Amino acid sequence: MSTLTRHFIDNAWVESRATRCLDVIDPYRETRIAEVTVGDPADVDDAVAAARRALPGWRDHSGERRGAFIDAIAEALEARRTSLVELSTRNNGKPRAEADQDLADAIACYRYYAGQARALDARQGETVDTGETGLVSRRYQDPVGVAGLITPWNFPLVSSAWKLAPALAAGCTVVFKPSEVTPLPEQALAEIALEIELPPGVFNLVHGDGRGVGEALTAHPGVDKLSFTGSNPVGEAVMTAAARGTRNVSLELGGKSPILVTEDADPDLAVELVLAGFAYNAGQMCSATSRLLVHESLADTLHERLDAVIADLVPGDPLDNATTLGPLVNAAQYERVLDYLAAAEQEGLDAGNTPVSALPDHGYFIAPRVFRDVPTTSRLWREEIFGPILCARRVASDDEAIALANDSAFGLAASVVAGDPARAETLAGRLTAGNVWCNTHQVAPPGLGWGGMKGSGIGRELGRAGLDAYLETRYVTRPSAD
Ligand code: NAD
Repeated sequence: MSTLTRHFIDNAWVESRATRCLDVIDPYRETRIAEVTVGDPADVDDAVAAARRALPGWRDHSGERRGAFIDAIAEALEARRTSLVELSTRNNGKPRAEADQDLADAIACYRYYAGQARALDARQGETVDTGETGLVSRRYQDPVGVAGLITPWNFPLVSSAWKLAPALAAGCTVVFKPSEVTPLPEQALAEIALEIELPPGVFNLVHGDGRGVGEALTAHPGVDKLSFTGSNPVGEAVMTAAARGTRNVSLELGGKSPILVTEDADPDLAVELVLAGFAYNAGQMCSATSRLLVHESLADTLHERLDAVIADLVPGDPLDNATTLGPLVNAAQYERVLDYLAAAEQEGLDAGNTPVSALPDHGYFIAPRVFRDVPTTSRLWREEIFGPILCARRVASDDEAIALANDSAFGLAASVVAGDPARAETLAGRLTAGNVWCNTHQVAPPGLGWGGMKGSGIGRELGRAGLDAYLETRYVTRPSAD
């Protein structure tokens, strides 16, 4: 069992001042596999001080040089692939193939931002065409400064890559707080920083929970930029903290995303996308398309086929290659989903014939459930559940589907399954969501963008926008020579 009582600050392992630890568990075996310190605000002070000391040097490296370091992170992750996938699987409970996909996505993200760091060199001092005569204006981009990065537990290595890679590319130094629920995979990032000889203080990792570290990090006046992924209540607290000192903040929050299936959709494709949209990672996805709006003429067929594919899921040991459904991440998440199932019973929701798969006798497993004809007033329809629970409604028209889809406090993602691709894109254009997938699985390539509208957050990660989130723009104007 590992004991994570040390932070990584200034390229050294530093013992936390806190004496209290939390259990880190294997959600399949329900056993403690590690302990992690709750952290202490004074530990955050040390990490921020190290990041501030390192900032001038890191900022002054060329993008080319920073890109080389970021490429080296990608390579070092690749070299650890087998062990990291296994560690993620044990700490998070997700099936091995999903953990492997996470790592591939994280590596692709580092590689992409290594290229963006290099491209930044070429863009510095670009002339801006302002239409003014007699003046020349140029644009420069500078790092925001020290970035405080906070991530959740559902896609640990991916969420950190989406923040760390662009922050380093931009020339920011960072203090990173991983989720206390899944701190094990992230430990590798500190080991890698040492291995690739990243300059001291550029990357600092402080373990802990929200009270011990999160609040101190977000309140710290030495932190210029906050990037947070997690729940809405904490996101609002982070935004409130960022208000002091008018600091830059990016928020990736929750979702309650819709999937629309029109009457001309290919039923096989629809079933595949609906299942993946709510059961991948046992439904613990911010982008889970957990509200199904299916045309009434296809609804019965779709439900019948959905029941069949749910029955084919293989719950079991996430380390076993045959497993397609893992447990939820911990007891707290399990209880939370059970509360929703109790609410469904109280509300008298119709669970249709969803087969309950034979679940292992240990592990925080929840059998996927499809509730049909769920009223839009139901808590299950409106709130993010973060478990393999699908709420479905039949619709009579595209207009009805769009109205119901957009009637949500969130706007993170959406899927459309339609026979006619042009119709799918037309529907996509009417949806209030940061990412819409038409007739395809949820993908988030690093060159695209990720983020939500409405309650799903502020800003975009990935792509150029993801880099810009860690940059300030400076315009310099002078008389032209002639
Ligand atoms: P959470 O908000 O409980 O915790 C997220 C992180 O914030 C953790 O590291 C936690 O320790 C820290 N934290 C807790 N309290 C804090 C405080 N007061 N100040 C600062 N930091 C604090 O979320 P979670 O349960 O870990 O993750 C699930 C949530 O994350 C879901 O709501 C999900 O939708 C969201 N999420 C969103 C995205 C996205 O891209 N939009 C991606 C993944 C997860």
